[in-house]
Amino acid sequence: MAKCEVCGNDYDKSMEVTMAGKRHTFDSFECAIHALAPPCQHCQCRIIGHGVEAGGKMFCCANCARNAGATEIRDRA
Ligand SMILES: [Zn+2]
Ligand SMILES: [Zn+2]
Repeated sequence: MAKCEVCGNDYDKSMEVTMAGKRHTFDSFECAIHALAPPCQHCQCRIIGHGVEAGGKMFCCANCARNAGATEIRDRA
């Protein structure tokens, strides 16, 4: 059993995620997303899909990248 590092829940079906060599423990995808998913630089929503990278910034979709001034952007899914 392990404690979720986001909400502190002690859950017997917890999950472990390794990101950039660091191990994280969560009780749910919701908490994992909260802790690890990067926010869209335009609408601030959590990027849980492929996302779009433009000019070193992450966006949730091509539309947000375009709204933030990036041109020639297409979804890379
Ligand atoms: Zn949690
Ligand atoms: Zn967005």
